[in-house]
Amino acid sequence: MVTQDSLIQKIAEIPQVKIGHFPTPLEECPRLTQALGGPRIFIKREDCSGLAIGGNKVRQLTFTIGEAVAQNADTIVHGAASQSNHCRQAAAAYSKLGLNCYIRLAKDHKSIVQGNLLLDHIAGADVEIVDIPFGPELEEFKFNLAKKLHADGLKPYVVASPRSTALAAAAFTWCIAELHKQQKQLGIDADWIYTSSVGGTQAGLVLGTKALGMKLKPYAIAPIHWEGKTDRIRDAANSAAAILQLDTQIVDTDILNTDDYIGEGYGYLTPEGVAALKLLARTEGIILDPVYISKAMACLIDHIKQGKFQKDDIVIFLHTGGTPALFAYHEEIYENL
Ligand SMILES: *Cc1c(COP(=O)(O)O)cnc(C)c1O
Repeated sequence: MVTQDSLIQKIAEIPQVKIGHFPTPLEECPRLTQALGGPRIFIKREDCSGLAIGGNKVRQLTFTIGEAVAQNADTIVHGAASQSNHCRQAAAAYSKLGLNCYIRLAKDHKSIVQGNLLLDHIAGADVEIVDIPFGPELEEFKFNLAKKLHADGLKPYVVASPRSTALAAAAFTWCIAELHKQQKQLGIDADWIYTSSVGGTQAGLVLGTKALGMKLKPYAIAPIHWEGKTDRIRDAANSAAAILQLDTQIVDTDILNTDDYIGEGYGYLTPEGVAALKLLARTEGIILDPVYISKAMACLIDHIKQGKFQKDDIVIFLHTGGTPALFAYHEEIYENL
């Protein structure tokens, strides 16, 4: 176990760049709580992390780009799905730091110049849609591109797992340290933290809460079916523990992650997700995204309906951002309002 102060000290020692607005706010949602007749709900606003409409990747890029800069890189290579929030936030970070940014996005059903893809272009990144599936093939493509850029005299840094996932876990350990302090200020001690993740975000929440000995229990909703997800999350958490020199070890039973709210697949709307999006906008004026966090909220709503919580329980919902993707889904959302 570690104290909040010493955890903050360890986090400060990781190479980092200042690109976001931290701490992100923790807000109570009384109208949402009332509408659901459930536990007291608070939202941790990672969607308000600044930098080109914000999101959970700003916190993790604080350390990935921090590492790139510490290694004297002048170029970032990144790639993912075409509406990637991670790539959009990376493109903005690299503009802010005056570096080069190459983004290669897998062609899919949302490769339209809207939402995140539009923002990648506005940020001035070198963007290409490639006919390669999102997964190991795209990862290999990114490393091959980096080799070419290196041969051209650039110093590229590739944002890729497992390193990026481990640094993301360190970043969300930091988020928990923030929450620990914010809870004290508000005089609360929450029971659960819900979010959308199948990687570093959940890994960091699990590591941070366990290292600080908090009552808070992380529960994550996967946005995509991911083979071996528990291994991935556990390994990221334990790598982050090594980076932070924490003696906390994460085991499989610490990881609560469900695949039950994905629907048709990654990047496809669910009716429950759209209903959650509407509810948050109409009770709290908070906008969720269609691919990740609205599905996580759909799960929380479902758990409340199933009677999983006591009335005096407190739930923190970690809003991971992703709002620009809404605009790539405008027709489907409008039709279902
Ligand atoms: C990337 C992302 C997630 C998931 O984060 P991981 O921890 O990497 O699985 C959740 N929500 C949004 C909006 C994201 O962009």
